[in-house]
Amino acid sequence: MGASESAANRAKAAELLKRFKDQPAGHYINGNWLSTDGQETFDNLEPAGNTSLGAVVSGTVQDMDAACEAAASAFEEWSAFSGQARKKMLHHFADLIEKRAEEIALVESSDCGQAIRFMKQAAIRGAANFRFFADKAPEAQNGLSLFQPEHTNYTLRKPIGPVGIITPWNTPFMLATWKIAPALAAGCTIVHKPAELSPLSATLLAEISEEAGFPAGVWNMVHGFGEIVGKRLSEHPAIKAVALVGETSTGSHIISQGAATLKRVHLELGGKNPVIVFDDANFDRALDAVVFMIYSLNGQRCTSSSRLLIQNSIKEKFISALIERIGKLKVGDPLDPETEVGPLIHRTHVEKVMGYMSLASEAGATIAAGGYRPEALAAGNYVAPTLFTDADNEMRISQEEIFGPVLTAIGFDTEEEAISAANDVPYGLAAYIWTADVGRSMRMAQRVEAGMLWVNSENNRNLPSPFGGMKMSGIGRDGGDYSFDFYMETKNVCIAHDSHKVPSLGV
Ligand code: NAD
Repeated sequence: MGASESAANRAKAAELLKRFKDQPAGHYINGNWLSTDGQETFDNLEPAGNTSLGAVVSGTVQDMDAACEAAASAFEEWSAFSGQARKKMLHHFADLIEKRAEEIALVESSDCGQAIRFMKQAAIRGAANFRFFADKAPEAQNGLSLFQPEHTNYTLRKPIGPVGIITPWNTPFMLATWKIAPALAAGCTIVHKPAELSPLSATLLAEISEEAGFPAGVWNMVHGFGEIVGKRLSEHPAIKAVALVGETSTGSHIISQGAATLKRVHLELGGKNPVIVFDDANFDRALDAVVFMIYSLNGQRCTSSSRLLIQNSIKEKFISALIERIGKLKVGDPLDPETEVGPLIHRTHVEKVMGYMSLASEAGATIAAGGYRPEALAAGNYVAPTLFTDADNEMRISQEEIFGPVLTAIGFDTEEEAISAANDVPYGLAAYIWTADVGRSMRMAQRVEAGMLWVNSENNRNLPSPFGGMKMSGIGRDGGDYSFDFYMETKNVCIAHDSHKVPSLGV
């Protein structure tokens, strides 16, 4: 069953990907697909075998300028659509995503190397993002009433203008929809700059936007490198805000590149997220969550729990159960439905991740599982699921975001020690706390420095909840109304009751 499904997936994916081999992936600007003839391109490699999936146009500053100008020209028309009209269009967009769900899953899995068992959800989650913000579009402009004895204030929100959306390579389709849906629901026009290492689903999204019938210029997409087109997008004077999902260093670049035009920025950046397991936790559920939250999505997930803080009283038992589970993880072709861990995005990323194996040994940690590249899969970017033990929190393997299937385990005795280790990193994105003691979980939630905390759970997604990090993990929050606060300007209108004394000068 598994083998035949996997062969069928490969055949279907090959058919769907053929078009990208025949014709470079190009830009979508002002309702047109730009000619790719004579344009400079780069090769897009498949993580599972490093064969070419086709060429992608390497955008120029002029391409990005054209996209930003198109978004600026379309803003007046799109922002004048009523909330109800935007709601209808965004639901229609979600319908179209769902129609292409299988194609999206297969293209995404082939392009970014994430296992198909997870990418099957990509379209469903993308459509859900659009439906959630579609339903909120009619209320996006609503604000507060703030009364004073002689004045009434009310607030209203207006879309900020054309915005830039810059996305990473790890789960590109889902993340692009998560950022773009609220921007469009708010009434902003967008320029999307997808990651150069997994650009294909951005092309599918732009095609869907064309089919959905958005006015020309509402949705623009430019392929290419961050240092060229991403930089220009964050500098362009017509762009009023930039939402980035990416590395912490890229976040710093966006801030400085956008400084001259006072760009509003929302940054969702890296993490080194702790999962803290106390000895009173439900052992089996905690074990499942620890395995899932570092080895699913190949560990290339911003909210992955890459540091296991384990209470010393159960450390030996937990680590040996963990090693047993790691040994059984199915590593292989991302299109195989049985696969749990696929290849990393690129060879250079494999080198980075493998570099931490020697760093671990040099620092005195033990490679208790993995630590190597599976020989049988040498053509692809595979790294065996890895566990470091005998580590302390100061080691680089405990401090730096590795962004691969690599977990560092650190023992602790007391609640105080756990909090101090959890917080002693530059990042503050997510944290996971496993304990049966409600009071302890409440105390920990107050003190652990993270934008998002889960108690006795793996990462559970709730669209109205705020998503984002503190410290070097980012600035700002997404989700529900938080997204509208970013994509909209709040105005205060103060109306006098004509009863107060207006100061009179020069009388
Ligand atoms: P990256 O920062 O290298 O690239 C992200 C995007 O930024 C790409 O489109 C890239 O082309 C662009 N870019 C690069 N330099 C730029 C510049 N100077 N100006 C403008 N744009 C530029 O990140 P990545 O390697 O693609 O993705 C992995 C990172 O993303 C990890 O650090 C991960 O933690 C983070 N991430 C964070 C979240 C979150 O919600 N916090 C979610 C997913 C991924």
